[in-house]
Amino acid sequence: MTETEFALLVDLHKDNPRQGPGRVADTGRAIELSGLSPSPALRLADIGCGTGAAALVLARRLGGHVTAIDLSPVFLDTLRRRAGAEGLAGDITPVAASMEALPFAPGTFDAIWSEGAIYCMGFAAGLAAFRPLLRPGGILAVSELTWLTDERPAELEAHWSAAYPEVGTAAAKLAAMRAAGYTPLGWFPLPASAWLDAYYAPLRARFPAFLARHADTPLARELVRLEEEEMALYERNAAHVSYGYYVARRAG
Ligand code: SAH
Repeated sequence: MTETEFALLVDLHKDNPRQGPGRVADTGRAIELSGLSPSPALRLADIGCGTGAAALVLARRLGGHVTAIDLSPVFLDTLRRRAGAEGLAGDITPVAASMEALPFAPGTFDAIWSEGAIYCMGFAAGLAAFRPLLRPGGILAVSELTWLTDERPAELEAHWSAAYPEVGTAAAKLAAMRAAGYTPLGWFPLPASAWLDAYYAPLRARFPAFLARHADTPLARELVRLEEEEMALYERNAAHVSYGYYVARRAG
């Protein structure tokens, strides 16, 4: 992706409460699976936090301190505003950094969250990069594109195998987690409403203003076309694909 494309993508998504599928209730369910209890001493991270979908829920539900990391300072600005409005500004530290070069010492975090973002560096690479940042026994909670069925329509298989070759079944994701030194505690698939109502509907509502802002430039139109194509593909194939939400403990 070029810088211009990334900037446009950020501009399209920056006012949304989230930049990928998921609901507050799903973050809550992952917190339950993690077994974490609220404590002001918790050191939490949200990697690829976007405008703070998970970071805000973590701060609200668990207390503790959330380090919220994203490549985009624009998304972090939105997160800062949202945290301030909720009285959580002191509990969340936004950090502009790449997940591929995380500026933290080993064992820094009790738990690392990453919703719809680990794919940016790849599941296996992300698992390997995040593990040393957790204290032994620390929690990893990630959502990741997952096949729900063993056989998929050709159009779906073709799209995601090209766009994200690591797409796989939950069994494969859990095996990858074990191989990377984690003990899975549980997983669940995100329901269709986590895509349609929580993510796609608010995004679609912003297309007209986005196109107006960019005076109908071809790149902006192309971006909207690609988003619409992805939404239609999902809607036709919701039985076969979703995000799986995986919660694991660092083994050793
Ligand atoms: N967790 C948020 C955002 C998911 S979208 C949510 O669920 O709403 C993926 C996010 O990863 C975007 O905010 C994007 O800016 C960020 N991202 C992409 N590449 C990244 C990288 N290399 N390092 C850190 N963040 C990255």
